[in-house]
Amino acid sequence: MIDKQHIINRFISYVTVDTQSNPDSGTTPSTEKQWHLANKLAEELKAIGMQDVSIDENAYIMATLPSNVMHDVPTIGFISHFDTSPDFTATNVKPQIIEKYNGQDIVLNAAENIILSPDYFEDLHLYKGQTLITTDGTTLLGADDKAGICEIMTAMEYLIHHPKIKHGTIKVGFTPDEEIGRGAHKFDVKKFGADWAYTMDGSQVGELEYENFNAASAKVRVKGKSVHPGYAKGKMVNSLYIATEFINSLPRMETPEHTDEYQGFFHLHGVKGDVEETELQYIIRDHNLGHFKARKDMMLKLTDELNSQYEEDIISIEIKDQYFNMREKVEPVMHIVDIAEEAMKQLDIKPLIKPIRGGTDGSQLSYMGLPCPNIFAGGHNFHGRYEYVPVESMIKATQVICKIAELTALEN
Ligand SMILES: [Zn+2]
Repeated sequence: MIDKQHIINRFISYVTVDTQSNPDSGTTPSTEKQWHLANKLAEELKAIGMQDVSIDENAYIMATLPSNVMHDVPTIGFISHFDTSPDFTATNVKPQIIEKYNGQDIVLNAAENIILSPDYFEDLHLYKGQTLITTDGTTLLGADDKAGICEIMTAMEYLIHHPKIKHGTIKVGFTPDEEIGRGAHKFDVKKFGADWAYTMDGSQVGELEYENFNAASAKVRVKGKSVHPGYAKGKMVNSLYIATEFINSLPRMETPEHTDEYQGFFHLHGVKGDVEETELQYIIRDHNLGHFKARKDMMLKLTDELNSQYEEDIISIEIKDQYFNMREKVEPVMHIVDIAEEAMKQLDIKPLIKPIRGGTDGSQLSYMGLPCPNIFAGGHNFHGRYEYVPVESMIKATQVICKIAELTALEN
């Protein structure tokens, strides 16, 4: 069995190292402090007996667990990221351990009256009786995604110590800067050399994801003409009103706060303006590629219409694709999802297969030639002070990794 205290100790040794990434930095890793944990992880991979451990100039870590069978088995990989979100501080993380959780409110910080309550965070009810690791209310925890790192490390160690479990070649990849969308950017898929991989970066036990949004950003610029308001008749063009017209012409209910599951949206997340010039910042999201294109076309058409209405080019729009739904790359190799699903079923874990309303490193990696679904790592309430992870969920994720390795090596 996987030792509970061992996994707790390992997890705490990771989350107490601050690895917050920074979107405003141009370097990789984006913050110098990510090296502190990266170097430690590379050393630990060697110490547990992994082969070919490498850490490159951008802090991408790779390692190999050699096959222990004679027959040909596909090479599979497990990937997670060691940076934490720029949204909330990760300095001085002081994890608290709640044993045999009683289902009541958890006081994270008495002095500041910060409470983690199942009345608000209903998922807590799932974990009554289990061991929870929480924050002290002043930082995030970093279970996203140090839980994933901890599970992969522990699974590799377990397989090394239990050679009776037969498996093929397994690759491990730990990346920086996932939280700022760059985790996959400098990932050397060829060097990694896996036929497929899984990111261990989901939340609740059982989560298994191979669909995510198609994503684009749109920047709309409206140019006006500022004239003294007392003498403006027939001369002033107020860019604020035209921008408002643009905003109101998009479907009001197709926004993040009115959609879920497979429904796409336009999200206006920034407005900056005065009479002379207004800029609107949007993101566009849709799982369906056709609908995604239609959304982009709708914005382009609206721009044209407003320009012809005002008889000059007062609006311009710049749309940039960000990432695409990995489903297109995973569907042709659907057995990689089936194996993960089967592994969960054999461990009495109910698979929760649902579309991601966002992106993952796996979606980028899938388009780089490494099909890469996402599996639960166990944490909840990512990117903030209410983040927590049940230790039992980390153990289950570790078992899923070992079981996937075992099932992939079955002869049939
Ligand atoms: Zn993550």
